[in-house]
Amino acid sequence: MYRTHTCGELRLPDAGKTVTLAGWVQRARDLGGMTFVDLRDRFGITQLSFNMERDKALCEQARQLGREFVVQAIGTVRERESKNANIPTGEIELIVTDLKVLNRANTPPFTIEEETDGGDELRMKYRYLDLRRSSIRRNFELRHRMAIEVRNYLSAQDFLEVETPVLIKSTPEGARDFVVPSRMHQGEFYALPQSPQTFKQLLMVAGFDRYFQIVKCFRDEDLRQDRQPEFTQIDCEMAFVEQEDILNTFEGLAKHLFRSIHGLEFDAPFPRMSFDEAMKSYGCDKPDLRFGMRFHELNDFVQGKGFKVFDDAELVVGVNAEGCANWSRKQTDALIDFVKRPQIGATGIVFVKWTEEGLKSTVDKFFAHEQLQHWAERFNMKQGDMLCLMAGKAERTRKQLNELRLHLGDLLGLRDPKAFKPLWVIDFPLLEQDEESGRWHAMHHPFTAPKPEDAQKLIDQQDLGSVRANAYDLVINGTEIGGGSIRIHDRAMQEAMFRVLGFTDEDARYKFGFLMDAFEYGAPPHGGCAFGFDRWVALFGHRTDIREFIAFPKNNAGRDVMIDAPSRIDAEQLTELGIAVKS
Ligand code: ASP
Repeated sequence: MYRTHTCGELRLPDAGKTVTLAGWVQRARDLGGMTFVDLRDRFGITQLSFNMERDKALCEQARQLGREFVVQAIGTVRERESKNANIPTGEIELIVTDLKVLNRANTPPFTIEEETDGGDELRMKYRYLDLRRSSIRRNFELRHRMAIEVRNYLSAQDFLEVETPVLIKSTPEGARDFVVPSRMHQGEFYALPQSPQTFKQLLMVAGFDRYFQIVKCFRDEDLRQDRQPEFTQIDCEMAFVEQEDILNTFEGLAKHLFRSIHGLEFDAPFPRMSFDEAMKSYGCDKPDLRFGMRFHELNDFVQGKGFKVFDDAELVVGVNAEGCANWSRKQTDALIDFVKRPQIGATGIVFVKWTEEGLKSTVDKFFAHEQLQHWAERFNMKQGDMLCLMAGKAERTRKQLNELRLHLGDLLGLRDPKAFKPLWVIDFPLLEQDEESGRWHAMHHPFTAPKPEDAQKLIDQQDLGSVRANAYDLVINGTEIGGGSIRIHDRAMQEAMFRVLGFTDEDARYKFGFLMDAFEYGAPPHGGCAFGFDRWVALFGHRTDIREFIAFPKNNAGRDVMIDAPSRIDAEQLTELGIAVKS
């Protein structure tokens, strides 16, 4: 037997027992007469103790152990003299009587401790070592628990977990496809699913009623901290439902996770906000509601007073930074620099401070004191506060102010990762128009139904920008955790949608004929949603980098630096596939 116990298991009542442990050498400390070794496995750390007087040879053997050696130790559990309150096994140690090296290890390229000295790339290259760190390991314990709770909850609600294929035809979710060449059908390609969207809809046609899957999805798009080319979704679909049923069911799932993972109760329903309201009040479709700083518009007060920046603007809009009236010039200049960064691209900020001396703005030349008072009222401003106003094209300015708002939230410590603020954003537009080409794109995906009252507009291709969808996102702390919609389940409507998106009827049939055919065999009304599992776990782990919650993630260039993928393939393999590589 390699071991009788794990390294996280032994406690004071075990004192006196003879046990065998196996694990990795975390650290060895040589104190002359005594040598202590911290032995680690997934479950914890146990101190091994060696005494020169008791057994010289064994003690010397222990001194030879290098970091990360794999060893087996037999010994007796004993109460420790100096206890370590920081670890659960800290009251005991093992008086070793027999020690065996099961495998040696090279000196690891970085320290395998909670706080590591390893840089990102190094940790990714030796990910199997990085995963030995307890802080990372805990992320996977969290992930596992959440997956179990998702399954428990959904099974109890009669959802059936069904696997859908990975070698498929394109399912557009707004990204590029990863494609896989077919050897048997040269010149033809499979696409990896951007989501199982069409399959889950076909499962509804099949009468499965409630489906879910914790499933890998693949999207070839630029990477960010919260995006990976392959990622995991909790993918769900329900038949005979309206938006309300779906929101209730998955609010239930979210509440179940909050309760079972964090012990948090959310008694009240999650707030809901329309897309329009979110854009107007927060400048984005995923507002972080951990703090206020709602936008207010000032066009009616500020225009026509001779201040050109405001006069020429389509929108003058701002936020109230509470308690910031005492900010120095240096601090406000830093805010201006922040919004002037190319990624944000604003031209500046107008500040209004309410100090003990009263209201004072950076544009006092143009505005009388009593005008500033009107502004202050609109923002519910109090003495000690500071308004930050921005002006320009409406949509852009809102986006810029959103960045500033979030930045202020960070600077003022208002975005506590342990405070969860969920929100449903609803009533998304069905379509968005590309400014340059004038083409219409599905805001969610092409299978989303228009709201019944707007359906005719879609068919007539009239006033398309105003067509709303029963589409919704679950947002927690400003992160889009998931989203979905009520689907089209009627061939004619699906064809109309594809036409609006610029597909010829032939093209639509070639790509999605199977789905539209299925709609003609008794497709029930249906809808669903999907949640980004990696993101949700990261959020519950109070972190923003989802890579910490994916065992073997890709780096920011989409590479797996450990196995070195993607990589070239043999000429022979290419020939088999009928593929010639250009460069
Ligand atoms: N397939 C969608 C997505 O991946 C989710 C859904 O509409 O159910 O975003």
